[in-house]
Amino acid sequence: MTEKTDIKSMNLPELEQWLVSIGEKKFRAKQIYQWMHEKHCSSFDEMSNLSRELREKLKELAELTVLQKELVQVSQIDGTRKYLFALADGNMIESVLMRYHHGNSVCVSSQVGCRMGCRFCASTLDGLVRNLTPAEILEQIYRISADIGERISNVVVMGSGEPLDNYDNLVKFIRLLTDENGLHISQRNVTVSTCGLVPAMRRLADEKLQITLALSLHASSQEKRLELMPVAKSYDLAEVMDACRYYFAQTGRRVTFEYSLVGGVNDSREDAEQLTRLVADMNCHINLIPVNPIKERSYVQSEHRDILNFKNKLEKNRINVTIRREMGRDIDGACGQLRKRFLER
Ligand code: SAH
Repeated sequence: MTEKTDIKSMNLPELEQWLVSIGEKKFRAKQIYQWMHEKHCSSFDEMSNLSRELREKLKELAELTVLQKELVQVSQIDGTRKYLFALADGNMIESVLMRYHHGNSVCVSSQVGCRMGCRFCASTLDGLVRNLTPAEILEQIYRISADIGERISNVVVMGSGEPLDNYDNLVKFIRLLTDENGLHISQRNVTVSTCGLVPAMRRLADEKLQITLALSLHASSQEKRLELMPVAKSYDLAEVMDACRYYFAQTGRRVTFEYSLVGGVNDSREDAEQLTRLVADMNCHINLIPVNPIKERSYVQSEHRDILNFKNKLEKNRINVTIRREMGRDIDGACGQLRKRFLER
């Protein structure tokens, strides 16, 4: 049996070409595209303006990627919803809906597992299983939007996986997500977070998308960063910072630095001073994330007092800084924790 064509990962011109190649009219593409990306239908039978014949033909030749909702956990604290989805091959991924005053934000996974090995992160404990397709990344947003019956306005690629390790699918996903014939989310409302894969960061800068790049910094010296993030072996801090400057130069978009505060590891006064020096000449924003401890590692959260001191120090030094609100703390909020716990059961 030949493999079915993943039509939900195609843009409109690609879909047109494919339909012509199977002997169909080009204009059908727009109809099918709308069913998939505007109406978010979950079966070919719902495509009521197509003939029965064409629907049967599509079932035979094409794959309509749909995720199955396996589990939803709702935070009693802040209404955050954490979803566990099953992929067609049985793999599980997780996604998070966060409700803010300014709208609904979805955090999507880009891979099943991860191979980056960051020491405090649950997603990477069992390594990488596989990349997600553009359609599988999109579907997380479509299914959540359908589930709550509301529009999604912001998307952050900060779930499990390293998005820049799945570069082509990531960029295709962003283009589909922001396409005027789809959800049409503004590129400015999309954030991609990376652990710092320098060549891919530069390549992304050259795409000239208007998305926000978030860099997982977590330490202000190469030595300390290396202790937390094995990827620092491949790309040292100076190179990573240069790539961030390049991203800003190419896109005009202010870079966000994520800094997970780990008790006694990277949360001292000196750390704050060193961090200031590191970013002083940059147009940037620092997002402090109190580390969400995972049971497989001994890292602990910083004292509340130390978190505030760290933030105040940066503010005094005129650095833009916020402490990320801890959403869904009561529902395995941190990347990969829900999936991991589910698989263990
Ligand atoms: N691979 C991407 C996306 C990862 S998740 C990246 O590395 O940026 C988004 C952020 O959450 C990253 O900054 C990541 O380092 C951080 N993170 C992961 N697990 C965490 C935990 N248990 N506590 C705090 N931050 C965590």
